[in-house]
Amino acid sequence: MLKEAYPYYLANQAVFANTDLEVTDKYSGKVATRVALADAKAIDQAIGAAVTATKPLREMAPFQRQAVLEHCVARFRQRFDELAEALCIEAGKPINDSKGEVTRLIDTFRVAAEESVRVDGEIVNLEISARAKGYQGFSKRVPIGPCSFISPFNFPLNLAAHKVAPALAVGCPFVLKPASRTPIGALIIGEVLAETDLPKGAFSILPAHRDGADLFTVDERFKLLSFTGSPAVGWDLKAKAGKKKVVLELGGNAAAIVDRDQGARLDYVVERLAFGAYYQSGQSCIGVQRILVHESVYDALRSKLIAKVRSLKMGDPKDPNTFVGPMISVSESKRLSGWMDAAVRAGATIVAGGKVDGAMFEATLLEDVGRDQDLYRKEAFGPVAILEKFTSFEDALARVNDSDFGLQAGVFTDSLAHAHRAWDELEVGGVIIGDVPSFRVDNMPYGGVKDSGLGREGIRYAIEDMTELRLMVVRKT
Ligand code: NAD
Repeated sequence: MLKEAYPYYLANQAVFANTDLEVTDKYSGKVATRVALADAKAIDQAIGAAVTATKPLREMAPFQRQAVLEHCVARFRQRFDELAEALCIEAGKPINDSKGEVTRLIDTFRVAAEESVRVDGEIVNLEISARAKGYQGFSKRVPIGPCSFISPFNFPLNLAAHKVAPALAVGCPFVLKPASRTPIGALIIGEVLAETDLPKGAFSILPAHRDGADLFTVDERFKLLSFTGSPAVGWDLKAKAGKKKVVLELGGNAAAIVDRDQGARLDYVVERLAFGAYYQSGQSCIGVQRILVHESVYDALRSKLIAKVRSLKMGDPKDPNTFVGPMISVSESKRLSGWMDAAVRAGATIVAGGKVDGAMFEATLLEDVGRDQDLYRKEAFGPVAILEKFTSFEDALARVNDSDFGLQAGVFTDSLAHAHRAWDELEVGGVIIGDVPSFRVDNMPYGGVKDSGLGREGIRYAIEDMTELRLMVVRKT
C-alpha cells in the first residue's frame, strides 16, 4: 500500500507543501497517492543549500560516506516489499520485474559503498625531459560540486540510484528531479537518506513540472547535469546547459543478431529474445526492438518465437504470473499503435499479438517492416519487436548500425571471430555476446553513442564524471 501523501525533500528535510501531484496506479488508472510538487523557489533554495553543503560533504571521510551508503543498503533490504509494491503501482511494472529492480537498487548502493573508499589518484612520472628532472606529479579525484539529476519513469528507483549512489560515494551534493509519473521510488530513497547525518543541503529530491524545471538545466551553480530520459529532451537540455558537464543516458532501438550456428540452442535464444523484447512492456532503453536472424535458422526460430510471444500472460502487474503489464499511459500506447498501423499499411505483417486496449498493449511481433517506418527507425519503447532475415554476418552488422542510436547490441553466436568482429564494428556502447542487448549488471560501464547519449554510468564510471582530476606537482630538490 502506498501512503496517502508523500513529501518532497528540500535540503534533507521532508516538506509536505503543495501535495498537488497526483500519482496514478497505472493498471487501474485511479489516483493512488499525492506528492508534494516543488516550484521554482524550492528548486532555487535546494541549489543554494547544495552549494553550502559542498565543503562539509567534501570533508566527510570516505568511511563516513560509506556508512551512509551501507545504511541505505540495510534499509532497502528491510523495505524490499514496500519498494517493489510502490514500483508495481506507480509504473505498472509486473511485480517480478519490480522485485528485480529493488534487487538492482541494492546492488547499485552496495557497489557504491565499496567504491566510496577507493576513489584514488595516481603518481605521474614527470621526468620525461631534462627540464622536469626532480619533479613528480600526483593526481587525485575531487568532487565536481553540486549536481543536477533528472531521471525517467521506467526504472524509477534504480536509475535514480545510478546518480544518487555515486554522488554520495564521492561527496557531491545533488538535487534530483524524478519523473512526475513515477516519483515514489525516489522519494523513498529520500526518506532513507533523511535518516542519516549527511550535512544539511547534501540532497534534495524534488518532483517538479517540466515548465518549472528549467533551473535543473540552466542554473550555473550546478557543475554537472546528469540526465536519463528521451533523446529529444536530453539533447535539448544539453543545448541549454551552459558550461556545466553533461551526461546523457538516452534511448535506442536495440537489435539482436541470431547467427547461423544457433540452431541447437534456439529454445534458449527464444527465451531471451522474448524477455528482452517484452519485459516491462518493452519500456526499456535496451529492450529488443529489431531481431536479425540468419536465413538458415529463421523459420525454426520464427515458429518458436511466435509460440512464446503468444504464451506471455498480459494483465494485472500485481499478479506474479503476469509478464506484460500496462504501458505507462494510454497516450504512449496510442503513439505506438499508430506506428504499428502505419507499418502494416506499408506492407508489414503482424505475426503475433497486435491487440491494444487502452494502456494494455499485447506482446507483438511483426515481419516485413519497411526500414523507413517509424516502427523501425524510432524508439518503439513498448512491447513490439520486428523480425528480419539476413544472409551474411556483414549485412547483419550493417543493419544494426543503420540506426540513429547506439546503446547496446546482442549477438547470439558461437564464433569467436564473429564476436570480435561485432565488438569492433558495431557502433554501440556495449556488445553482449550470447545474450540480448537488454543485459545489464549495475557495475558495468553503461551508456550510448550517436543519439543514445554521452558518457557512462555504472558507479565507477559515474564517479569519473562526478569528480575532477586535481594535480599536485612537487619539486623534490
Ligand atoms: P522523458 O525524456 O520524457 O523524461 C525524462 C525526465 O526528464 C523526466 O523526469 C521528465 O519529467 C524530465 N523532463 C522532461 N522535459 C524536461 C525539461 N524540459 N526540463 C527538465 N526536465 C524535463 O523520458 P521518459 O518518458 O521518462 O523515459 C523514457 C526515455 O528514457 C526513453 O527514451 C528511454 O530510452 C530513456 N531511458 C534511457 C536509459 C539509459 O540509461 N540510457 C534508461 C532508461 C530510460
